[in-house]
Amino acid sequence: MIQLYIPLNFLGVLYREIKQSLADMERLFSLLDQNREVADSDTAKALQIQHKNGAEIRFSHVNFSYEEKRQILFDVDFSIAAGTTTAVVGHSGSGKSTLSRLLFRFYDIQSGRIVIDGQDLRDLTQASVRAAIGIVPQDTVLFNDTIEYNIAYGKPGASKEDIIAVAKAAYIHEFIETLPDGYDTMVGERGLKLSGGEKQRVAIARTLLKNPSIMIFDEATSALDSHAEQLIQAQLKDIARNRTSLVIAHRLSTIVDAEQILVMDKGRIVERGTHAHLLELQGAYARMWERQQSKKTEVIEDDDEADEV
Ligand code: ATP
Repeated sequence: MIQLYIPLNFLGVLYREIKQSLADMERLFSLLDQNREVADSDTAKALQIQHKNGAEIRFSHVNFSYEEKRQILFDVDFSIAAGTTTAVVGHSGSGKSTLSRLLFRFYDIQSGRIVIDGQDLRDLTQASVRAAIGIVPQDTVLFNDTIEYNIAYGKPGASKEDIIAVAKAAYIHEFIETLPDGYDTMVGERGLKLSGGEKQRVAIARTLLKNPSIMIFDEATSALDSHAEQLIQAQLKDIARNRTSLVIAHRLSTIVDAEQILVMDKGRIVERGTHAHLLELQGAYARMWERQQSKKTEVIEDDDEADEV
């Protein structure tokens, strides 16, 4: 019995180990899979960023569907000036994340153009486009390694000073200092589990280290207290400095300072402008704002749909 028990127990541990590494592999392959959707053209060139404070982004009459017969984006047309922040808001499924996937060129569009600093994405190498864009995702995947490794992943070979500097800028340094092994603390599924907010701060530090011209910030939908909300606002300001930012927002209060807000509904931009301008319009945005203020609802809810334009 005992003899049998030990190998089984050992197998259990082994199984968990394999399952974990498969989970990591899965993530890797899902990324690689996405890459297969598009291919560099034979004449593809490297993206040349023309501005010191980010890059100009232009979506020109973009139509897009993931699969035939179901169009997702309809004539989406907007520009983001270099060094400015544009926020995208709208109900779940309205197409917000699709915009960021298209900018990263995970997919090619059916018609229209997506242009960065005057260069059409289809004429550029995917590697150069992805090097210019940093993404802070909603749900950050941490490697089963030290917190330092997880931050440095943004820029292999970064110095400890640089890592500490970005950790401070992402408001995670003080937290790391309280951990038993500091920057050497193991995190991830097999190490210390970090909260959603802490993970997102690691992702911000990672992105700051990469120092991309364009930053995509996919705000987490999880409920936040007002302190955490203020922290996100401050973080957004810091990471947006000297670069072009696209923020997919769920909490309108975090994006009131954005130079441009795009309101999406069922794949179309239905309103656009600054926070003040959109309130004056008294349309879909103003209704979402009022609802979030009065109910103190943390995120845009699907039952807002009833009020839609
Ligand atoms: P959320 O706020 O919930 O993240 P979203 O506004 O970002 O939503 P998208 O993720 O852009 O919405 O999705 C827009 C539409 O495209 C949805 O109807 C979704 O079902 C569809 N969609 C998203 N990804 C794919 C995919 N890989 N294949 C097919 N359809 C997809």
